[in-house]
Amino acid sequence: MGLEIIQYLVLNDNYNYLLRDEATGTTAVVDPSMMLPTMKVLNQRDLRLNYVLQTHHHYDHVDGTPPLSRLIPDLKVVGPKDEHKRFPCQAIELNDGDVFELGETPIRLLSVPGHTSSHCAYYIESIPAVFSGDALFTIGCGRIFEGSFETMYNSLQKLADLPPETKLYCAHEYTLENGAFALSIEPGNQDLVKRLEVAERLRSDNLPTVPSTIAEELKTNPFLRCDSPEIKNNIGLPSGSEVEVFEKIRKMKNSFKG
Ligand SMILES: [Zn+2]
Repeated sequence: MGLEIIQYLVLNDNYNYLLRDEATGTTAVVDPSMMLPTMKVLNQRDLRLNYVLQTHHHYDHVDGTPPLSRLIPDLKVVGPKDEHKRFPCQAIELNDGDVFELGETPIRLLSVPGHTSSHCAYYIESIPAVFSGDALFTIGCGRIFEGSFETMYNSLQKLADLPPETKLYCAHEYTLENGAFALSIEPGNQDLVKRLEVAERLRSDNLPTVPSTIAEELKTNPFLRCDSPEIKNNIGLPSGSEVEVFEKIRKMKNSFKG
């Protein structure tokens, strides 16, 4: 018995995920952007929703939660304990490292602040898989709204330190946009070139490029490659520290026009 992951696209480019513990049928949704797409998937599969897992409080991650809670009175909302007031309907509060049992599947909350001050990820060791919200993206990372560059860098390193085979389920389909920036600062990275060829084929067939793996990100994601001599030279910081390189490329990405 394991965990079934059902991925569906919501709004323009958000991925929502239903997680169903196969032993017990217990079901959770990660970051529901809206109510109706989640209800549609639940109804199609004749599933009952028990939990919402929230990574952070931005509208495109929480707006489905209040209407789902009204529709399903015993629905429980799980999120980080700090700043719980910003999460709607939150009933179960977890600290960094706490484990929540979805039926028979343990899910660990990892605190990864920077995009927001209480942003978290959900790590499922038994797969392994991580739901990274807007912290770590495929070939990219979230913008920093509520933290220092060092805080965000350390959060990304925490995710990078998960087992390399860990599947990365991030909250947006941004691979091609992120890849264009990555290629502009590390054009000699053949792993990146090859990955983008595959991603372009997938997107032209309207298929998701998510999930990836931590191993793929380590080879191609510039925000996890702040020690790359090619990147350091290309951005004019040949002897910069990893945090200095991270700060510079995060700022460059903010104004990058692919
Ligand atoms: Zn966000």
